[in-house]
Amino acid sequence: MTDSFNRKITYLRLSVTERCSEKCIYCSKSEGKCPKESELSAESFVKIARACALIGISKVRLTGGEPLLRRDFIQIVSGISSLNTYKDISLTTNAQLLKEQAHALKKAGINRCNISLDSLRDEAYNEMTGGDLQKVFRGIKAAFQERMTPVRLNTVLIKGKNDLEIDSFIEVARKYPVDVRFIELMPMGDASFEGISNEKILADRPYLKPVELTEDYSGPAKYYSSSGFAGKVGFISPISHSFCESCNRIRVTSDGFIRPCLGDTAEYSLKEALTGSTEDLARLIFDIIRKKPQRNSFSDSFQTNRKMNQIGG
Ligand code: SAM
Repeated sequence: MTDSFNRKITYLRLSVTERCSEKCIYCSKSEGKCPKESELSAESFVKIARACALIGISKVRLTGGEPLLRRDFIQIVSGISSLNTYKDISLTTNAQLLKEQAHALKKAGINRCNISLDSLRDEAYNEMTGGDLQKVFRGIKAAFQERMTPVRLNTVLIKGKNDLEIDSFIEVARKYPVDVRFIELMPMGDASFEGISNEKILADRPYLKPVELTEDYSGPAKYYSSSGFAGKVGFISPISHSFCESCNRIRVTSDGFIRPCLGDTAEYSLKEALTGSTEDLARLIFDIIRKKPQRNSFSDSFQTNRKMNQIGG
């Protein structure tokens, strides 16, 4: 289906929990409790996916919070997979639990995963996220072993925290067949942190050249590479280059709201409709998509009502 601005909406992002095993300084650190009771059931997520498929959505990403914390996560994945309507079922994870779960995830239907990786130094990683860098490395290895590829590593650069590691991250893309992506910091968390502009990273590294992309690369990231690189360097630049005109996505929060735009506080509850038929739910989602705003409000002193862990990054 298309929204009111003629954008084709094909991509659903389900935030299956707002609970997280990490506490990233720019994401959920100051968050208090994350009530498990308000999370939708596995059946409800599968029903939303079924309804979305009826209106032409064909890609789904499972995110959070940390999706692998949900004990019934495999049930959600296999439920969506058994609809046989999604050509792409992907996962965003901090990889703290990935090694243990990778085989079951692949078997249930996850075909690729994005892994958040904010530092390549043990101490700095722990300081930024509260997590264990070595577990991330083991998770990345497991993702390759299970062929959940392409594996994409997502890095949010913060001034004074990990911005001196830019070239080390690019080196990872030179050495290994992974996509290392720099995501510009969005105003969704602690306002005291300052991000790094992707424009500046590129301007300082003229050896990085744009690459031709296949169908696997339909998102907002722009990819670059250089001679001898095994992987690519991606830039997701919602702040320096908004990509609203090509936005193809909607988000569902773990407590059952559709958020048509990450950078706009409007949300619409699906909870009542979840008790009715899938067709009625699809009609409601269709009507909500028609209300998707033309642009995000990041440049208009945007004040978020939810942190990223509550919306699904
Ligand atoms: N727990 C999973 C993980 O760490 O990948 C999934 C959820 S996390 C919210 C998804 C992504 O959102 C992460 O890559 C994280 O770095 C990114 N993120 C969180 N807050 C952000 C912000 N304010 N600006 C840009 N990206 C952000």
